[in-house]
Amino acid sequence: MTERLYYSVPMLTSCEAEVLSCEERDGRFLVTTDRTVIFPEGGGQPADRGSIGGAAVLDALEEGGCVVHVTDAPLEVGSRVRITLDVPRRLDHSEQHTGEHMLSGLAHSMFGAHNVGFHMAAGYSTIDLDRYLDEDELALLERRANEAVRRDLPVTAEVMDHAGLDAITIRKKADIGSDDIRVVWIGGGDIDSCTCCGTHCATTGEVGYIRIVDSQKYKGGTRLWFSCGGRAVREASELTRAMTELARSYSTSRSELPAAVRKQSEELSQAKRELKARTQALCDGIALAHGEEIAVISAEGFGANDVKMLTESLIRGGAKVALAFGRCGGATHYRALRAEGVSAPMNELVKAVNGIMGGKGGGSPAFAQGSAGAPVTEEIISAIRRMLEGWMK
Ligand SMILES: [Zn+2]
Repeated sequence: MTERLYYSVPMLTSCEAEVLSCEERDGRFLVTTDRTVIFPEGGGQPADRGSIGGAAVLDALEEGGCVVHVTDAPLEVGSRVRITLDVPRRLDHSEQHTGEHMLSGLAHSMFGAHNVGFHMAAGYSTIDLDRYLDEDELALLERRANEAVRRDLPVTAEVMDHAGLDAITIRKKADIGSDDIRVVWIGGGDIDSCTCCGTHCATTGEVGYIRIVDSQKYKGGTRLWFSCGGRAVREASELTRAMTELARSYSTSRSELPAAVRKQSEELSQAKRELKARTQALCDGIALAHGEEIAVISAEGFGANDVKMLTESLIRGGAKVALAFGRCGGATHYRALRAEGVSAPMNELVKAVNGIMGGKGGGSPAFAQGSAGAPVTEEIISAIRRMLEGWMK
């Protein structure tokens, strides 16, 4: 058994310990000591990092009541070593973990929602609730959680046996085999109470700030993304800077930004509709002026959608076969379309164009399209027209 100093003094950052065993496995070393400040992975909380006697702790896990440190170098059994904790990492984990308790406990007391999943990763943490919470409910939950932060309530732990656990009512009782069950109380149970093996802040005030970042419907309930402590402050600060920059670019205030973005989006949709109508009129005009049965033409500034429109206009205008080239964004787009009753295969036509232009594309006998990096020349257009005339004879 390892003496777990992270339970008795949660933010103890270093300790002396004796190496009890050291075993090599796959180029790494599994080290146990009589005591440790390193928390192994458990209860959704990732393992601590740190060092033991100069060797880096790459991971830590629990095996048979012992904390097993995974190190990058061997340690002499029986030697006295100093174990040092990676403090910023632990602090971050404790902040997220304590915040998770607070959100889960409050979601339960406020809305009757049960936490059915918790995940903590380097960049984000999630809680899965078995009840759907809408945006107003989540906003209220976040507000209550931050009120609890400001009240700076104690976070305490108590170890009890199964009989003790059976005698109390708490939010969540994990299925623990041993008679050594740790129950964590936040605000004496007012905010949360559950069995837990993780590390926590000493008070809710130490969590600093709790943000609900995002949410979505998940398995009939809610998955919510949250961040706490230093992580939440960093994110809020980044978000404020980004919003300020955006608001300036829209010549508006941060609070008016959503309305400004919506307005621009509507204007953009309207402009797209107008552009499409004008392109259609332009294509119809080109088709009217062209009036040949075999239409092979190039239009500067036309993209893939525009050449599609142009071939359709040319066919409507009486062409038997239409091959339109457009030059836009450093690429040449082309599309081939035939009229009803014409047998010339458009996929073969585009294949021939691909060969001449060094382009890529394909399609069906009825229509095909492609693109190439090189611009189309008058010589290429003449050569393709002659080839098509041969096909159509
Ligand atoms: Zn916990």
